Amino acid sequence: MTQRPCIAIVGRANVGKSSLFNRLLGHRVAVVHDRPGVTRDRHFREWEFDGRRVDLVDTGGFIDESLDPLADQVRKQIDLALDAADVVLFMIDARTGITYDDIQLARAVQRKGKTVQLIANKAERPQDREAIGEWMKLGMGPAAPVSATAGYGLDGLCEILRRLIPASRGKYVPDEKLRIAILGRPNAGKSTLVNRLLGEDRMIVSPVPGTTRDSIDAEFIWQGHHFQVTDTAGLRKKARVNDDVEYYSNMRSLESIRRSDVVILLVDSLEEGLPEQDLRILRQVEEAGKGLVVAISKWDALEKDHKTFDILCKGMRQRIPALAETPMVAFSGLTGQRVPRLLESVLAVREASMKILGRENVIAYFKECLDAHSPPYAHGRPVILTRCCQVHVNPPMLAFETDSPDLVAESYRRFLRSRAIDRFGLAGIPLRISFRKKLELRTDEDLARFGGDVPESAPEA
Ligand code: GDP
Ligand code: GDP
Repeated sequence: MTQRPCIAIVGRANVGKSSLFNRLLGHRVAVVHDRPGVTRDRHFREWEFDGRRVDLVDTGGFIDESLDPLADQVRKQIDLALDAADVVLFMIDARTGITYDDIQLARAVQRKGKTVQLIANKAERPQDREAIGEWMKLGMGPAAPVSATAGYGLDGLCEILRRLIPASRGKYVPDEKLRIAILGRPNAGKSTLVNRLLGEDRMIVSPVPGTTRDSIDAEFIWQGHHFQVTDTAGLRKKARVNDDVEYYSNMRSLESIRRSDVVILLVDSLEEGLPEQDLRILRQVEEAGKGLVVAISKWDALEKDHKTFDILCKGMRQRIPALAETPMVAFSGLTGQRVPRLLESVLAVREASMKILGRENVIAYFKECLDAHSPPYAHGRPVILTRCCQVHVNPPMLAFETDSPDLVAESYRRFLRSRAIDRFGLAGIPLRISFRKKLELRTDEDLARFGGDVPESAPEA
């Protein structure tokens, strides 16, 4: 799967990165707070604008004001975010002007040689836009003045992004390689699994001192399928010093999720419950639109009977409704038991996320849904859905046309979603459901060619 272009919003704490992130996504996803460094999870989203699909990354919360901007950890964050980015939006605060931290960060960004657009936020008042010449001193060219909270200058910003990211870059080109990210808390059994998959002890290597760009992908072939495990370096045994700082491992898992097609979340069968860290990964996978398989590890070591597996799965599904349909496999990395099953599940999830459901099937599904339940009334008036169409592949998105997209009840969205997962066999897939005033119908041929992102000028076949 070709990666979507990635736009990272970078800047020191409190300039308004999360605010812009939310504004661009059109709804509030990140927690915006006056205190620096509060945005923890929700800073990585698939964003659709003008026929392009990109990954939007908010680095807010990674770059903590209390840290020296040149501190090693900070540099690592920036490194990771920047390595992932195709376009960097470097944000300054128009009201405070350029600070020492801005300059330090700007240098780190410039060293990466990425495409950078300078933006000066909090520029809703005309007097805040007067210092535009001053901002040029950063050496990033002229700034685009914007206001994330008031919405000023955003059309201009999108225009710039349109130029930087040609529509065809959002295009979908399947390739043969299936990228997996293997995540889970320390000691869950990740390196044991990777070693099993690769057939050799590649993981337990000591980190080379001073390397920051240590993301390593390893490939293997199983039954004619080509797999790639992303960021095996993240699985290294390391002295738990700075590297385990929460935001660092957070950024790291985000990056390996982004670079994957399917995530395997390892849950240790010998430990109770899912820790917060795993819940965070689940949210990140969902937000990034990636497939998911939950793998219950160390099955050889668990005292169990024929009911244990079902009880364990049921418990997890009850506690975490988002896992209701997620495939679960119990395996042992040590003995290799059911590792093939795990790979089969991964393949099935990838296949499901690339599925073109078929116009006719979608129409039949839509009719079945309406026949089973009408949408609940809103403000005493019926909510009417007129049409439905698959508009994206990987992950699939079903869009419904309605006069009142904001009034469709959440319970009805869930109903449509679980019905579709059942009918089309989409377990483990972050199927998107969207309500739109005007639905542009996509043909199956368009979906096959562009994955739903029909470029402005579609090339002739
Ligand atoms: P981050 O740390 O860079 O992610 O910054 P936040 O998005 O959390 O914003 C920091 C503070 O700046 C919050 O109090 C926001 O309400 C405020 N803020 C963000 N954007 C704007 C803007 O365009 N204009 C004004 N006046 N305030 C803003
Ligand atoms: P990581 O920190 O997630 O990479 O976990 P490791 O792969 O290093 O495993 C942590 C510990 O659990 C080690 O002592 C492993 O030997 C043990 N372990 C991992 N997988 C299995 C398994 O399938 N069965 C058993 N019995 N032990 C395992």
